[in-house]
Amino acid sequence: MSRITEHYQRARKSLAGGVSASTRVNRALGHPMYFSRAAGCQVWDFDGRDYYDLCCSHGATLLGHGDERITRAVHEAIAAGAACSYENETHAELAELLCDSIPAFERVRFTGSGTEATMHTIRLARAFTGRTKLLKIEGHFHGYHDQVMFAIGSPPSPLTAESAPGTWPASSGMPAELVEQLVVVPFNRTDLLAEALAKYGDELAAVICEPVFYNAGCILPSREFIRVMREETRRRGVLLIFDEVQSAFRMGPGGAQAHLGITPDLCTVGKAVGGTYPLSVFGGRADIMARLQPEGDCQHSGTYNGHPVVVAAALAALKAYLEPGFYEHVFAIADRLYTGINDVFDRYELPGRAIGLGARFGIYFGIDDQPQDFRDTLQHSRTLMLQFIRAAIEHGVYLHDYGGGACHHGFCAAMTTADVDQTLDRLAAAVQSM
Ligand code: PMP
Repeated sequence: MSRITEHYQRARKSLAGGVSASTRVNRALGHPMYFSRAAGCQVWDFDGRDYYDLCCSHGATLLGHGDERITRAVHEAIAAGAACSYENETHAELAELLCDSIPAFERVRFTGSGTEATMHTIRLARAFTGRTKLLKIEGHFHGYHDQVMFAIGSPPSPLTAESAPGTWPASSGMPAELVEQLVVVPFNRTDLLAEALAKYGDELAAVICEPVFYNAGCILPSREFIRVMREETRRRGVLLIFDEVQSAFRMGPGGAQAHLGITPDLCTVGKAVGGTYPLSVFGGRADIMARLQPEGDCQHSGTYNGHPVVVAAALAALKAYLEPGFYEHVFAIADRLYTGINDVFDRYELPGRAIGLGARFGIYFGIDDQPQDFRDTLQHSRTLMLQFIRAAIEHGVYLHDYGGGACHHGFCAAMTTADVDQTLDRLAAAVQSM
């Protein structure tokens, strides 16, 4: 028995399913990966084998594992006592940096995870508008709370261009009535979005979407779709929420909203914002954020909100993202990596296509055209993807399969051009072995 299997069996006796989070099991392998060390763009398993990491803590690592600037800031916060649940001067410093970077942010609040951030944002939108319904986009992922875990993952029956938007629950245990508060529209279908906004506009508290649909690989909104979304929500008093938990800081300090030139009313950011430490942020227009207690009547709190260790890590991370040349490097690596992966697929005639924006990308197998919505990604070959992920891991490149359709992958800025070339050599050997 390998050490991995042995450890997994031990873990299953005390941890439910052997893991701390359900998606930790890499579905391509049927077990979680155990890494005992990480540095820069690499991770090392139990046996000391190294991997180039193209998962990067599910997106939470953007600078690199063990980045010195973050480690130093964390040590200093620990040395200062790390008492939490009190305010200190780093909170406003981080809030100021965030408000200067992300266009939607006039005021922010800190939370611990992307799930909490979307949950509180939705409550706030309901408090502010006095309305209940929420419009979400088919396939868009907004965390694990009951309000949003619909129409994600694998639909129970095939979706076609003609079928009605799906509203399937993605977990047992969620009250069926919650679906009555949801309106679901496919991504990039401007006609259906306009129709739904015309029909339900008076009842909708908010529209929530991933401005770049990374959770199905990497799909950008059409200019028309995102413009109509912004204009029609504003016209009808519906709040527009961009969930940038995945997209913030991937392509620039202003997130996808700066890239697209569309400013939502409210926005959530997570993952990269904490520099691998558990921070997420929600915020937006000052008049809406004023509804939060103690100024207003909408509750948001948490013992660990703005934990000083996490805030110190985030400050160090944000300052690094704002350094001159940071995004030039990210885009140069992105170009070399994605072009290189596609060259490998072409060379060995594997029908795969890497599509990315900034530091995150998807790989689609067996699809000719660039996907435009969640339904298109359902045509992607899961069988080929699993074979590819297994071969990549076997050859020293770590990719994660979350168990749904097309996955999102990413790199960190510690990657050099030499690392990209090594990664591509390993991927070429992997593809050749398939
Ligand atoms: N929103 C988006 C867009 C996400 O990608 C994720 C996590 N993948 C979440 C929310 C939930 O974040 P967390 O896992 O930190 O709760």
